[in-house]
Parts: sequence; structure tokens; C-alpha cells
Amino acid sequence: MINETALVVFSGGQDSTTCLFWAKREFKDVCALSFRYGQKHEREVELAGDIARRAGVEWEALDLPLVGTLGHNALTDASMVMDERVPEGQVCPNTFVPGRNLFFLSVAAVWARERGIRHIVTGVSQTDFSGYPDCRDAFIKSLNVTLDLAMDAQFVLHTPLMWLDKAQTWALADELGVLDLVRRDTLTCYNGIPGDGCGHCPACKLRREGLEKYLLSL
Ligand SMILES: [Zn+2]
Repeated sequence: MINETALVVFSGGQDSTTCLFWAKREFKDVCALSFRYGQKHEREVELAGDIARRAGVEWEALDLPLVGTLGHNALTDASMVMDERVPEGQVCPNTFVPGRNLFFLSVAAVWARERGIRHIVTGVSQTDFSGYPDCRDAFIKSLNVTLDLAMDAQFVLHTPLMWLDKAQTWALADELGVLDLVRRDTLTCYNGIPGDGCGHCPACKLRREGLEKYLLSL
């Protein structure tokens, strides 16, 4: 265990909730930060607060509505029809929120620095990254260097899920003793339905397929 505090960038979804409990195992103290960025389903922020409270973790939600309005995308624009897969000739579906992880991690780093925290945990994964460029390992490593240079600091960005697929992420939640909590109380669904979700959006499909694969492997 690392005898320091870690800050978890926490959306209240499957991945960041698993990271929250991973951080509780790995660090002496944990706090969590959520963002309201104009997402259609702001309820995820409330749910994130509930999970943080139950985990006994200090939690704060910050308002960053600019992030949702800068780039046109289906998670913040209710008039857009969500892509079910990556459209022909494009690199990612329209559920990609441009700059989201860049802004969130940068704000998280400033927030952490103010409190003398250098460990920051994020649930991004290159394995199941849905084409989102800011979930890739190269981006995180690059940003870590940039944040250090920007603030003359020595941040450590932790990405426990980077090389795990969804089935392995469920396995990790199980190992941490929170499989039921993650399954029942987190919100991953792009249609804003907690737990097993709507069942047909891309996030639900990825989550369900991973869960089925993990449960079959037991
Ligand atoms: Zn869904």
C-alpha cells in the first residue's frame, strides 16, 4: 500500500467505481472528483456522490459545462442520434466528447496540487476504448509529462484498467469485493439508466458482454 492520498476522477460508472475501490486498496487515503459537463444524464453525478459516501471517500463535484458545449457530441446534445458503432470513415462514434479527459485530468491535477496530492487515478482503458483517442496509454503518458511541466510537479497518473478488457474489469471488481455494488449501483448507460441499463446502447452492450464473459469463466 502507498502511504499517500490518491484522487480518483470519478463518473460513477463501472470503470471509475472499480478504480475507486482499487485506490482504496492501494492507497492510505482516497478522495474523488466528479464533473458536471452538460451531460444529458446529470443523475450520474448524484449516483457518484452516493457511491463515494458509501465508500467513505471525500467527494466533490465540479461544474465544467464548457466542455459539453465546445464540441458537438451525442452525450451532451439531446437532439443528436447516438452512433451505435464507429461510422464509416470516422475514427470514433459521436458519443466522443472532445477534450473531456484532457480537461478533467487537468482540472483534477490542479485540484490535487492544491491539496498536496500527486497520485491521480483514472479508469480509462485502451483495450475497450471505443475509438476514443483520450483513453489511450500514449495520451495519458504524454499528459502526465505535460502536467508535470505545467505545474513543476511530479504527478503520477494511475490507469489500473488500461490493459484490461471489460470481463477483466468485472473480475477486478469481484476481487475487490464490489461486484454486486458495481453491477447494481453504477451508471454506464448512455441512456441514463443505472445498473444493467437500457441494454442496447454501445456502453450497455460492452458492459453486458464483459459481465457474461466473466461470469461464464467462473
Ligand atoms: Zn444503455
